Amino acid sequence: MAPANDLAELARQAAVCVRCPLADHRTQVVFGVGAPDADLMFVGEAPGRDEDLQGEPFVGRSGQLLDRLMAEELGIDRGRCYIANVVKCRPPENRDPRPDEIASCRPYLSAQLELIRPQVVVTLGNFATKLLLQTDQGITKVRGQAYPMGEFQLVPTYHPAAALRSGGVVLAEMRADLVRAKLLLGWGS
Ligand code: URA
Repeated sequence: MAPANDLAELARQAAVCVRCPLADHRTQVVFGVGAPDADLMFVGEAPGRDEDLQGEPFVGRSGQLLDRLMAEELGIDRGRCYIANVVKCRPPENRDPRPDEIASCRPYLSAQLELIRPQVVVTLGNFATKLLLQTDQGITKVRGQAYPMGEFQLVPTYHPAAALRSGGVVLAEMRADLVRAKLLLGWGS
């Protein structure tokens, strides 16, 4: 992958990517959305059906919850942060992304992080958390604190789909994690 000078150039490279077999199934690459200089970045797992069709991360039911939590806990909309996924193409039937697909797509996420340089990265669910925190431990074990990662603080939280499934405690803990991110960003009141 050639080094990109900015996000737009990186997005153009990603749009024609054939580094893994997910390229055969996608409608389009779902690169990312938001402010190129965002202080806050969310990283999810992989595009689903809605995202594959619309070309934007988190536009389905999970995304609607994410938007609501962002508004209620951080007082922002998605234009104020940046949202991306571990893999940029939809896995068929929404299956889990495979290790080789994650590895093939990793350079795009690394380049996004280098170009955006967020202060805080909120990882949504196990795939993003395990990849960026370089851990085998699950989200339930590692959430509840922030991890300094050199360039940014990593705040692990549940995937919004888990909160949609379980509600209650999971949703409350997700809200608490977003407040943790808010305080790290100095956005607290
Ligand atoms: N789930 C994800 O992890 N990412 C999306 O973009 C949509 C749903």
